[in-house]
Formats: sequence, structure tokens, C-alpha cells
Amino acid sequence: MIIVLKPDCSDAQIKHILDRIQELGLRSHISTGEVRTLIGVIGDERKLQATPLSAIPGVEQVLAILKPFKLASREMRQADTVVEVHGAPGTAPVRIGGGSLAMIAGPCAIESEDVLDAIAGHIKAAGANILRGGAFKPRTSPYAFQGLGEAGLKILLAVGRKHGLPVVTEVMDPRQVELVHRYADMFQIGARNMQNFDLLREVGQTRKPVLLKRGMSATVKDLLMSAEYILSEGNAGVVLCERGVRSFEESTRNMLDLSAIPNVKGQSHLPIIVDPSHATGRPDLIPPMACAGIAAGADGVHIEVHTCPEKALSDGPQALLPEQYVRVCAEIRRLAELLGKHIS
Ligand code: PEP
Ligand code: MN
Repeated sequence: MIIVLKPDCSDAQIKHILDRIQELGLRSHISTGEVRTLIGVIGDERKLQATPLSAIPGVEQVLAILKPFKLASREMRQADTVVEVHGAPGTAPVRIGGGSLAMIAGPCAIESEDVLDAIAGHIKAAGANILRGGAFKPRTSPYAFQGLGEAGLKILLAVGRKHGLPVVTEVMDPRQVELVHRYADMFQIGARNMQNFDLLREVGQTRKPVLLKRGMSATVKDLLMSAEYILSEGNAGVVLCERGVRSFEESTRNMLDLSAIPNVKGQSHLPIIVDPSHATGRPDLIPPMACAGIAAGADGVHIEVHTCPEKALSDGPQALLPEQYVRVCAEIRRLAELLGKHIS
């Protein structure tokens, strides 16, 4: 349920409304827009049925939300949310959404300081604004490289700071949240963990932005419900990511659901970016799909880059070479200009 307040609703009236919601054993979330202030009510809505909230002074309208996600919904917030990713203290944050594009790039896994340093130098020069790299890798095989763990996080942070790039890395387990929080500027929740609800709650309790990737067989509604878990814990910094879904097609790693981008944008105020690397698994398809994602309205792209893909310890076959990444960035810049967007 969403309570729309009158433009002249006073602070005392807002407090009264919040007190009433609390008395009913429900939780509230205030969203202050330029024109309107809204209160989202979370909890068992049956408790509200016998309570005429619309009779309270200051309330203009009480809207029943039919969608199961509330805080993530467009009804809750009409304007696009802009998520800020803060890197080194004192530097300007990278903004994602509302016309600002995220250019997230880096290797699949952090392998060594030298390799990451070389990759970071190339992607920064090409126009990337966030460095990615996995220290905890969700591998299909338990015998495959699992990531460097904390040693990798230390490398990621050092290299990111050296090149002036905020860093994003995957967290796979609620028990890793505290550790990853110490080193990362943004959490990544991978496709395989999109419905790890304990993990979503745990990152929701922090105030660090979260890159939430769509599960490989998750619907758009499932994705938005997972975002709702994070938002309902009080963390408003959620960036969604379309990274392809499983299909019958065997020539690509996954199938990029481009329609998910405008579909999400119609239903939610949250930013959504596209990951053509994991969606296609093929360097020849990554540039056109990156551009297609931006043309469809995505708020950025997430691309794996490696200086020597044949030696990469994870996802080498899909890594772009630095020179290929330079070309993608140039194309995206041209598209961004056409669309009135910019890379922050
Ligand atoms: C990754 O970003 O390296 C990754 C494992 O992605 P996904 O969770 O989308 O498969
Ligand atoms: Mn990868």
C-alpha cells in the first residue's frame, strides 16, 4: 500500500501517519520526491483494511499496490533512481541511472596484482568508470579456480584506488558480507545467488550499493522481488543487471533478454545495466549486444576484459581484449550522445 501525501502535509501530520502505521505493527518507508511525498507501507495489509488512513489529515490518497514489489515499483517513485558508487574518499562518486551510464569492466577473476593493474590501466583509458573482478568465484566445478579470497580483495582495492576507479566484486555468502564490505565499493550478487534471500537481507542491512544480477531462470518479477528484499532492509542503492537467461540455443552461453530492460524500466524506478559478456559468452557478439542494451535504455554495461584471455583463470573465452573494449566504449559514447546520456 502506498500513501500519497498532500503537497502541504506538515511534519506533524507525517509523524502522526507514521505513528499510526507503527501502532498497526507495520513498517513504513518515506520517499520524498520533488513534487510529492509518498509513504510505502510494508507488512500484512489486512491490518489496514479496517483502518481508514485516508481520513487522516495530510493524506491525499491511499493506493493498494497490486504488484508484489512495492519499494522497487514505479508507483512508489516516479523519478528514476540514481545510485552513487563512492570510491576513494574525497573523489566524486560514479552515478548510475537518470542519464548517467555505468561502464563496469575488468577480468572475471582477480588473478594477480600485475595482471589486474595492466587491465585496469587499459579500461580506465578506454573510458570505464568502475573496475570489476571476482575474489570469490561461483564455479560449476569444485576443481576450477575458486578465486583468491581476501588476498584478491586487497589487490582489487589497491588497483582500483591507484587508477581512480571504484570497485565491485561478488559476495556469495552472508558470512562474507562483512569482509567484502571492507574492500568493495559495491557488492555484486551473482546470477546463482539472486534468490539467496539471507544474502539479500544481509547486504540490505549495509549502505553500500548492490549490483543484483538476474538469475539464469528468473523472471523479471523474480528479479524485482529480490531487489525488494534489499530495499526493504533499508538499502536503497540497488542496480539491476540483465545477463541473459537459459534457453534452447546452444551457440551462445545464454540468451540476452533485451526486452527486460524497458520492461523493468516501466515497472521500476531502479537502474538496470546489461552484461553482454555472460549473456553471450562470445567476444564477437559482445559489442553489438552492449550497444543494443544501451539503445534499449540500459543504464550501463558490464563487460569482461583481459590482456591475455588464453591465460585467464576464469571466463577467458568471453573476455574482450583491451583494444576491442576501446572500440565498444567509443560506440557507446556515440550512442550516449544521441540518447542525451553521459558516462559519469
Ligand atoms: C561474473 O560476473 O563473473 C559472474 C559470475 O556473473 P553471473 O553471476 O552473471 O554468471
Ligand atoms: Mn565471469
